[in-house]
Amino acid sequence: MAEVKAASAIVASEVSGPSPAVMGTYARLNLIFERGEGSWLITENNERYLDFGSGVAVNALGHAHPYLIEALKSQADKLWHTSNLYRVGEQERLAERLCAATFADNVFFCNSGAEACEGVIKAARRYHYVKGNPERWRIITFEGAFHGRTLATLSAAGNPKHLEGFGEAADGFDHLPFADHDAIEAAITPRTAAIMIEPVQGEGGVRVVPPQCLQGLRELCDKHEILLILDEVQTGVGRTGTLFAYEQAGITPDLMAVAKGIGGGFPLGAILSTEDAASGLQPGTHGSTFGGNPLATAVGNAVLDIVLEPGFLEDVSRKSGLLRQRLAEIEDQFADLVAEVRVAGLLCGLKLHNRIASSDLVAASANEHLLTVGAGDNVVRILPPLNVSEDEISDGIARLHQALFRLRKDTL
Ligand SMILES: *Cc1c(COP(=O)(O)O)cnc(C)c1O
Repeated sequence: MAEVKAASAIVASEVSGPSPAVMGTYARLNLIFERGEGSWLITENNERYLDFGSGVAVNALGHAHPYLIEALKSQADKLWHTSNLYRVGEQERLAERLCAATFADNVFFCNSGAEACEGVIKAARRYHYVKGNPERWRIITFEGAFHGRTLATLSAAGNPKHLEGFGEAADGFDHLPFADHDAIEAAITPRTAAIMIEPVQGEGGVRVVPPQCLQGLRELCDKHEILLILDEVQTGVGRTGTLFAYEQAGITPDLMAVAKGIGGGFPLGAILSTEDAASGLQPGTHGSTFGGNPLATAVGNAVLDIVLEPGFLEDVSRKSGLLRQRLAEIEDQFADLVAEVRVAGLLCGLKLHNRIASSDLVAASANEHLLTVGAGDNVVRILPPLNVSEDEISDGIARLHQALFRLRKDTL
């Protein structure tokens, strides 16, 4: 079995290294996959890897799901793209279904999480503008947040590492410590338009916002007549065991950014909004050429067909319970390496002690043919597809066990 190296560890003379023709913006593992089957990714040499990264919570139904393939192929035979100069049938159908299943009254489609986050920021600012309060355009955001890699979403998150070298951050964001209720109320001014938060910080290290905090934010927004924006790009479409994570807090947002799992691997993003919160977005105020095109929304509809099947989300919660239990055993067995287990449905994280880096466990797991994803706060994310089997969970835990065992030996 070939050792999996971080791409950065590969010397230029190695023929098997990543092509310099691709810009070097990622620290990739030196693996190329040729095909996928459910929870598995398979290399050209027929080596099988258990995919508990799901393309960073994107492949919600695993790889090569026959129903999604059929939806994409049959749409591909008919029509790919028309632009939003015309009505798009699959888009209207997907929007109506999303509205029926959530708090939303209407939906704007785009292509990625960052674009969805940009859109909710614009919607919130424009909402106050059309209500006669153009000075209300600042948004309260939280430390450790991640909202994407565009200039505005980087500024929204305020992560100094991501902003370095890109000039002055865009104005209009007030960053607060994670979930300090009194500090949040004190930070609301007559210039505040909205509060924006991820119900679970994914990139930030699977940091779960307690339901009472989300309820507190909802109350603050109502009291001060500002909008509550949720970034459910990572938590949405069943990832936390309900269709969207906000349901578990018994509140609803005014605006919500969605992407990742909604297309099951096909690029698709969406802004979900109440009628009131979308009131600033009249014709000509926002747009996206590719947004919600027939291919993307046909696949989005197929993903919803499966995720909304009776029992599907209950099954996600049940498997989450199983995974939580098995990860707790790992935490006990490797208390010298693992500091904490964090679980929100099938969005799970192992927080490691500082003596090992999350990237080391990601690499060690890959050597056991288990794919995981690093995150902030020295966390390794475990994100199996939502339709993972119980046997695959056991298999993944065994590989994780082996990876930690090796790491422990190596760090002694
Ligand atoms: C991934 C992510 C984004 C950005 O999505 P892209 O599709 O990479 O632009 C935004 N917010 C959250 C919470 C995410 O997890």
